[in-house]
Amino acid sequence: MKELELNHVYKDYKLGNKSKFNALSDINVSFEKGELVSIIGESGSGKSTLMNLIGGLDSDYSGEIKIGGIDLKTFKEKQLDDYRKKKIGFVFQSFNLIPHLSILDNVTIALTLSNVKESEKLEKAQTLLKKLGLENQLKKKPTQLSGGQKQRVAIARALINDPDIILADEPTGSLDSATTLQILDILKEIADDGKLVIMVTHSEKVASISSRIVEIADGKIVQDKKNDDYKKGRHTQKLVEKDREENLQKGKTKKEKHLSLYSAIRLSLHNMWASKTKNFLMALGVSISLISMILMLAFGSGLTGYITSLANSYSSPTIVTVSKTAVSEENQMGFMQDLTNPQPFENTQEKDEILQVINAINTSLEERYPSITYRVDRQQVEYGYSVMTGMSPGAATINFDLDGQESSNDIFYLYTTPPYYSDQQMLAGSIPGKPEEIEGEMVGQIMVSAKIASLMGLDDYTQAVGKIVTIKVDHKVGQTPLDLEQKFKISGIVDVNMFENMLVVYVDYNYFSALVSQNGGTLAPTSFYIHTDSENTTNAINNILSGMEGYTGSVENQMANMFSQMMSTFSIALTVIAGISLLVAMIMILVVLYMSVSERTREIGVLKSIGARKRDIKKIFTTESFLIGLFSGLVGAVLSGLIGLILILMFNSLLGFAPLSFHWYYFALAIGLSVVISVLAGLYPASKAAKLDPVDSLRHE
Ligand code: ADP
Ligand code: MG
Repeated sequence: MKELELNHVYKDYKLGNKSKFNALSDINVSFEKGELVSIIGESGSGKSTLMNLIGGLDSDYSGEIKIGGIDLKTFKEKQLDDYRKKKIGFVFQSFNLIPHLSILDNVTIALTLSNVKESEKLEKAQTLLKKLGLENQLKKKPTQLSGGQKQRVAIARALINDPDIILADEPTGSLDSATTLQILDILKEIADDGKLVIMVTHSEKVASISSRIVEIADGKIVQDKKNDDYKKGRHTQKLVEKDREENLQKGKTKKEKHLSLYSAIRLSLHNMWASKTKNFLMALGVSISLISMILMLAFGSGLTGYITSLANSYSSPTIVTVSKTAVSEENQMGFMQDLTNPQPFENTQEKDEILQVINAINTSLEERYPSITYRVDRQQVEYGYSVMTGMSPGAATINFDLDGQESSNDIFYLYTTPPYYSDQQMLAGSIPGKPEEIEGEMVGQIMVSAKIASLMGLDDYTQAVGKIVTIKVDHKVGQTPLDLEQKFKISGIVDVNMFENMLVVYVDYNYFSALVSQNGGTLAPTSFYIHTDSENTTNAINNILSGMEGYTGSVENQMANMFSQMMSTFSIALTVIAGISLLVAMIMILVVLYMSVSERTREIGVLKSIGARKRDIKKIFTTESFLIGLFSGLVGAVLSGLIGLILILMFNSLLGFAPLSFHWYYFALAIGLSVVISVLAGLYPASKAAKLDPVDSLRHE
């Protein structure tokens, strides 16, 4: 039985527009083990085409190619991959070493594809490289070797799986004459070891040392002659130790092994490292969208948390504030407008609006909260009044006369004293006391926000307590115009946190009401306070209120609600933006990976020629896109952490608090998303790589 036998082999290349090019026609030839065959012929005569058919790289032919008596056509894809891996060793004119792998890794790659043990791989490769005189080059990269050395590495790679057939397509075409002889010597040695070596050559001289010369012209064999002068060399050492029997047995009993995940990761890391600048820049690009996403989430939760905690710190657990939210025609959102032009509760002989609200609350308590026995009592409620005078400049001012320097400032918020204070709210002094007579004039008391106190130009703003100021109001209160100019004594300074930079004045409700009456008006409350028996009841009533049209909780609650509404609208917009930027990042990864596939086309061809399966190629590329995603995610997470830290420090020193809060799952989400988009982006390039035709890839420039 012949080792290799070709019967009536025809090969047509399909060209565009349905025409064909006949590259080989009726090839009939057979080869034995131990032969060193030179295939000669003009350029374009079909030599490489023949080699690719024999090597199982091209299955599109007609006729029979038999290996050890078995027709290649009967092989399934998996068997063909195996055939290339175990039976054939390829050597190319342009060496086709993988540039980003070391010499050692280039040689062992075929074993890596079979998931051979690390120690076994190393031993085999070292022995082989030593015999080829390359024992000191293991760690080098291909570019650091001379042409002859590179070709010896390629021969080592071809021999590592102990194949029966070595196919060398112009192996000396790129070498000088001295190196050519060395390489020929090696190939001869391989043949003398009992392998079949078929090499393509242009050179008569090269051909003359072989045992047989086959000449091809225009796709046909025109001459086939034995070289009678051919002498087998005497080699004491064989290049590859025979353990064929053992291998065959293993092959039968053991399941075939393939590229392990560990090796795929190692290969990917090598390649990523080889183009580290590109990969780092890409990771940076991807991380920008991740950073913006993480920061957006951190600001969202930080601000919402801050506002909510503020609102909570301002509301007592046993007091419910009820305000009117009558929507004006000009402003459907209502909030600002309502305060500027307040809608007081109607409290006339015909209608007691407050009583109606209370009755509604009590009915709801009875129906929806049977366990709560508490009922609101009309007699127990306290009135409140607030107006956002800041919306109409000049409507309300606070004037102080300090050392003859008159100063007038717009009051932003005029508020009656609410019935509760947390300790931290009162910065100095106390809540307004009774009016007293000073220099023949009745002077009431007010509390002011720290901002007002600080405007008074005192060494320490707490010194504002006890100072006399004049408040002028020229504003509509309800339906009643209010024209008022009154002296007040500052009784306390309040921390109004949420309105920190606003000028807020607190007046006692009853005193303010009396002032309005003196001016011919009637002050109607814009809110009222209910004292409850427990936090549970407070929550229940607040729940009832939120479902009651036209009424709402405290100003702070309104603010907080408005704010979270704003934030959620904002969040949607930001999420869309973050989504778009992630999409852009994904396309960027796709482009880079796609380019990487075309850059590495030759490498893919080489991998296929040494038996890589489609799945192995896919695995290598998918692993790479996974690692790129992971890397980008980590870069993004670390950078967001750093930027977040800087922002927190900055905000803390500027504002005394940082409106952003980070949770570990933001980072996990960012890394996860990065991996997902990267793997998704890598799917197409990876499958493109896997589908590349090996012959075309090897031809690729
Ligand atoms: P050689 O190796 O002897 O120089 P090849 O086997 O590479 O020649 O090519 C044989 C002929 O087939 C040439 O004329 C070449 O142009 C043609 N050929 C090779 N590959 C293709 C292909 N993929 N499509 C069309 N024609 C091809
Ligand atoms: Mg060729």
